[in-house]
This record gives sequence, C-alpha cells and structure tokens, in this order.
Amino acid sequence: PDNDYSESYFASYARNEIHETMLKDHVRTDAYRDFVYQNKHLFEGKVVLDIGCGTGILSMFCAKAGAKQVIAVDKSEIVNKAREIIFDNGLDGNIVCLSGRIEEVTLPVKEVDIIISEWMGYCLLYEAMLNSVLWARDKYLKPDGLLVPSHANMWISPITNPGYFPDEYITDHVDFWRDVYGFDMKAMQANIYDDVRVDVLPPDCLGASPCAFEMLDLHTVKTEDLVFDRPWKTTLSGESKCVYGFLLWFDMFFAPSRHDTTVGDAMTAEEWSAGGPQRTAFTTGPFGHPTHWKQGVVINKDYAEDSQAVAPRSELHGTVSFTIPESYTRGLNIGITWEIPDKKSKKTETWMLH
Ligand code: SAH
Repeated sequence: PDNDYSESYFASYARNEIHETMLKDHVRTDAYRDFVYQNKHLFEGKVVLDIGCGTGILSMFCAKAGAKQVIAVDKSEIVNKAREIIFDNGLDGNIVCLSGRIEEVTLPVKEVDIIISEWMGYCLLYEAMLNSVLWARDKYLKPDGLLVPSHANMWISPITNPGYFPDEYITDHVDFWRDVYGFDMKAMQANIYDDVRVDVLPPDCLGASPCAFEMLDLHTVKTEDLVFDRPWKTTLSGESKCVYGFLLWFDMFFAPSRHDTTVGDAMTAEEWSAGGPQRTAFTTGPFGHPTHWKQGVVINKDYAEDSQAVAPRSELHGTVSFTIPESYTRGLNIGITWEIPDKKSKKTETWMLH
C-alpha cells in the first residue's frame, strides 16, 4: 500500500539531476569515501548492506576497500543504472544489486557486518528514510555490526542579530510579495511564516552560540525516538536585537566502532574531527562549507512586535519538537517555543516541511 507517498518519492530518485547534486556535494560524498578508505580494515572480508544505493557510489567505495560482498538495494529505477555502473567498473563480482524496497527484497544472506546508507533529508529527518534503515538494522545487522554513519547531532540557533535578516532576507523573501510586477501578492506571505524554508544563511545573523537539542546514536535509536520534544537554551550576543527566527541543522559522525563513546552530546563535527585524522564527520551548519541540505530556516512572523525584542547578552530558552504531519508522513512539523526572560512572554509556533 502506498500509505507513505512512496510512489512519488521513489520516482523522484529515478531522475538524473538528484544524483548529480548528491555526488557533487563533496562535503557529503568525501565524508563517506574518507571513512571507508581510511578504515579498510573494517571492510576487508566483510558483508556490507548499502540501503538506497542510488548510482552505487557507496557500494563501490566498500568493494574497493575490500568488502567480500556488498548488497546494494534501491526501490527506485536508478538501481538499473547502478547495476550497469558497477559492471562497467568491474565490480560486479563483489556487488549484487537488488531492486525493491529494503523492507521487501530477499537478501542473499541472513545477516550483514556493516550497513552503510545515506538516508539524511532536510533538517535530518525529512523523507523519513531513516525508518527503513532502522528496520533493516534490527533485521539484518549482526549484534556487533557497524552502522555508517554512526551518530547525528541536531542544532538550533536563534536568529537575533540585525543586518542580514531584516535588511536582506525579509526584503528578498517576504517584502518581495507586496509588489510583484505591480500586483499585490501578499497572499503568498502566509506560507513563508508557516513553512520551514530550506536555505543557506550567513553565520553572522545568528545571535548566539548554537544549542544541540538532540543526538541520535544510530546503533540504538528507535523509530519512536524520532518524534520528540527537547529543551534548548542559549545566551545571546551583544548585538542581539529581536527574535527574527531560528536556524536548524545537523552534524554527521562516522565512528569506527559501535562501542565508540567519543562522540558526545552537543559535540560539533569540527570538535570531534579535531581529535585525530581517523575521525570523519561533517556539518551542514552555517559555519561549514554549504551542503545540498542547506539549513532549515523558520521566520517569526511577529519579529517586529515589541514583545519579540531581546536584550543583548540575555538568555533565551524554550523547547523544540519534531513530529510527523498527518497530511504527509514523509514531512516534518517543527515546533519551537521560546521565552524571553524579562518579558515573561512565552511563544509557541509550528512550521511544516512538506
Ligand atoms: N547512496 C546513494 C543514493 C542516496 S539517496 C548516494 O549516496 O549517492 C537515497 C536513495 O535511497 C534513493 O535512491 C532512494 O530511492 C533510496 N531509498 C529510500 N528508501 C528506500 C527503501 N526503503 N528501500 C530501498 N531504497 C530506498
């Protein structure tokens, strides 16, 4: 049954450009390559499952690193290209391509040593592909098996510094609708305040150090943990003026062991990678090189109201929740609450990514 919008979802991955975009995202693809090639000892002689193989890139990295057998699975038509690509590169002796949903195909083995997958969506959890990876982890991964990547940290930062936000971003994307070729298109502004926007923002619009609100250890996380409500707090910069909105992003970590304890809550990709050349991680945040995931931007529609003004260097805190919209189960509802201490005002807003 197509109760999770799978038909259009998999059709979108049959197209050429999406794979070009992903492969050209060097932050993303280099991280997978570096992890696999720098940890050949983990792959030598092993059985690897590549969930959502696309063009087959991750399977080919693993085969080159010495994996005994790689099982590449994709439900999209792209899997036929993967099969051809793998043959053209002489790797068909080690990689078998299976066409179908990971939940439906019959694997040639009972269990695998390693699962590799690039399942991340906008704001990490958009697309809900992680559900499929977790299902396969519980069914096929050996008790001591490895998931690649291994951890994800999720970040939020309020946008409070004046400059880019009211002057450029709001002008370009909100005020723009006031007069379009002489027509009043303010009706379009409603969606801006209701939707999570996907965009890259310059870091200097953030008025605070980012706050990590969730860490997923992918070896142990459960599907039900992907819906959550967490506290966040931060101290604002000296330039902070008001709450224009919030920026959300994630960092990915590739630990070489499922027992690794070095990836901590609230650790950035940069901090963890600084611990040694073997440590592969990347950020999709505003302090790193932009990726095709960009960042999640939500705008506070009341930013111009007095109640939203903040004092420099004051504290701001609240909660952030991720839930699944009933109208689109591959989408996300992101709810944020924030309290401005001296104002005793508490605000709750929800934005949708669909
Ligand atoms: N691994 C490739 C492609 C990543 S995009 C790369 O890194 O470039 C994610 C892919 O996963 C898409 O091709 C999509 O069709 C596939 N996919 C998503 N959910 C799946 C599922 N449940 N079963 C099989 N394939 C899936």
